[in-house]
Amino acid sequence: MSEVHDVIIAGAGPIGLFLACELALAKVPVLVIERDAQPESPWKDKALGMRGLNTASIESLYRRGLMDQALTAAQDRPQHFKAKPGFQFGGHFAGILLNANKLDMSRHKYRLPGPGLVPGPSYMARVEKAFTERAVSLGVTIHRGAGVSGVSQDDDLVTVQAGDQTFRTKWLVGCDGGRSAVRRAAGFEFVGTEPEFTGFAFTADLDDASKLKPGFHFGKGGLHIVGHEKNYFLIDFVDKTFDRAKEPTLEHLQTVLEHVTGTDAKITKVHHASSFTDRSKQATTYRKGRVLLAGDAAHIHSPLGAQGLNLGLGDSMNLGWKLAATIRESSTDFTLLDTYEKERHPVGAWALEWTRAQVTTLKPDLFGGAIRNLVQDLLSTTDGTNLVVDRVWGLSLRYDPDDKDAHPLVGCSAPDYEFDDGERLGVKMLGGKGLLVSFDDEAELKKLAGAYEDRIDYLAVRAKEQLGIKALLIRPDGFVAWVAEEKSDVNAAKPALERWFGKASK
Ligand SMILES: Cc1cc2nc3c(=O)[nH]c(=O)nc-3n(C[C@H](O)[C@H](O)[C@H](O)COP(=O)(O)OP(=O)(O)OC[C@H]3O[C@@H](n4cnc5c(N)ncnc54)[C@H](O)[C@@H]3O)c2cc1C
Repeated sequence: MSEVHDVIIAGAGPIGLFLACELALAKVPVLVIERDAQPESPWKDKALGMRGLNTASIESLYRRGLMDQALTAAQDRPQHFKAKPGFQFGGHFAGILLNANKLDMSRHKYRLPGPGLVPGPSYMARVEKAFTERAVSLGVTIHRGAGVSGVSQDDDLVTVQAGDQTFRTKWLVGCDGGRSAVRRAAGFEFVGTEPEFTGFAFTADLDDASKLKPGFHFGKGGLHIVGHEKNYFLIDFVDKTFDRAKEPTLEHLQTVLEHVTGTDAKITKVHHASSFTDRSKQATTYRKGRVLLAGDAAHIHSPLGAQGLNLGLGDSMNLGWKLAATIRESSTDFTLLDTYEKERHPVGAWALEWTRAQVTTLKPDLFGGAIRNLVQDLLSTTDGTNLVVDRVWGLSLRYDPDDKDAHPLVGCSAPDYEFDDGERLGVKMLGGKGLLVSFDDEAELKKLAGAYEDRIDYLAVRAKEQLGIKALLIRPDGFVAWVAEEKSDVNAAKPALERWFGKASK
């Protein structure tokens, strides 16, 4: 009880673990408190545990050297996006498939080919294992078997109750999932909409599996998806009374299967089953005093269109270095830290809206059908597909630079430059520091970077394609803070340096 921790993270799910890695990389000691005694779960490495990771997430993994460990078939990943004959799966909107062949990457001037560009799948088990191994190797302690049940705080410290133990910490981050105990105990407001449907994800044997065709299908009762490895998803708009505290029974799944799909196929054995809804809620603020929220603890919505994990990984990548800097400075000035909420809350709000739009499109009534027909028409066009793919893959993500005259790259993910020495920019970010890149090795910029050498690496390099840029400042999360197209004006770089990295140390 006497020890005061710098940071406690509640929850060793993907978001808590990735945040722990980010903090530990910045040399902040972290204790993770996880409710479950064992990380393994029967579904996490099976079809039900499969998750689609978008470009924004894969870039983050790549910039931390975690791609090979966290991604399925990482070695075979394409370096750039190529159209293939026929149809190429690029995600979906409310079950309406996106043909990635329509994607026109030439619209993204600052997106260069590289290992982080193309989305791909992984499994929860694989992602969590990779993050756990990294976190432990960086000195993170994971305390399993008793969840956080109580939280209180004053101006300086947070007291955390977990099982029969009491901990004290300067900061607590709730990464304890959609039913977050931290969120409730710390009194965060969580607002939004109640469910329109109940979803079921299950792996099962059927008496005649050929009665259900693979892929996405709309029926009178809702949407159904027939995946690989005997994996089924049912979206049921009819019965909203299912008690989600219980595991779905074979009998219940059979009833839903019949009215959603209209099939007479019989389920003979259920291997794994879980339920979900489209309840969509977001914390109105991501910080209350010394308690923060990230991942599903901060926002919940339906899994339609595969956004939740991606959203949470973006939260962790954004929060980690800002919280680390706040702790390093022992400061009560939370200006930098509060840019976490400022940048990430709108992205969360967007995901809620995006998934709600899909729910409306899926409604098995005349209204849903009318919207669905319209969306289907829009997605048959190149422009429509590009707009939706940009959002689902995270290609259009830009944090508001607060300056309408800012260079279009400011607030966006940095281009994955390939340098003359054959290395790429992503690899230069493994240490988690900021980067000041000067393609002309300008003496004044070098001097400026030297005054921040504990927080920023200076890189004097030439790139194969410089995209008209002479110099740029990149934050530890890989987002661009400042760009010079002409000979760099050092004075113009200073405000960006101070905004994101504080005062110079020399
Ligand atoms: C069917 C389905 C498919 C999905 N597909 C995708 C997809 O393709 N792409 C995508 O991006 N997202 C997808 N998602 C969403 C994604 O799985 C979640 O957004 C993601 O798992 C959230 O991670 P998290 O760490 O915030 O929460 P969780 O994964 O819920 O982890 C929370 C952790 O906190 C622990 N915990 C709970 N309570 C406490 C407590 N009181 N104290 C301490 N620990 C506690 C839990 O045991 C758990 O380990 C899908 C979701 C579903 C249901």
